Amino acid sequence: MTCKEFLAQLTDYFDGKLAADLEAEVRTHMGKCGHCEVVVNTTRKTIEVYRNNEVYEISPSLRERLCAAIMSKCKGKKPGCSSEE
Ligand SMILES: [Zn+2]
Repeated sequence: MTCKEFLAQLTDYFDGKLAADLEAEVRTHMGKCGHCEVVVNTTRKTIEVYRNNEVYEISPSLRERLCAAIMSKCKGKKPGCSSEE
């Protein structure tokens, strides 16, 4: 799974909608990709804040920004963090 694929599954992951095998892939990616793990932790906190205000939604623009942040950090740095395609 690449970072891009990971991000594509992120909203469903938080919604608990992922199939078990896909969720396992997401978890595996988090385990080896520190950047995505940070994003997940940050996003989870953001969601908790929103949930407390009962306005929960990961907007496309937020996902765009997360994606851009990860891609710029991952770029060619770590083995196991395969943002290149
Ligand atoms: Zn990643």
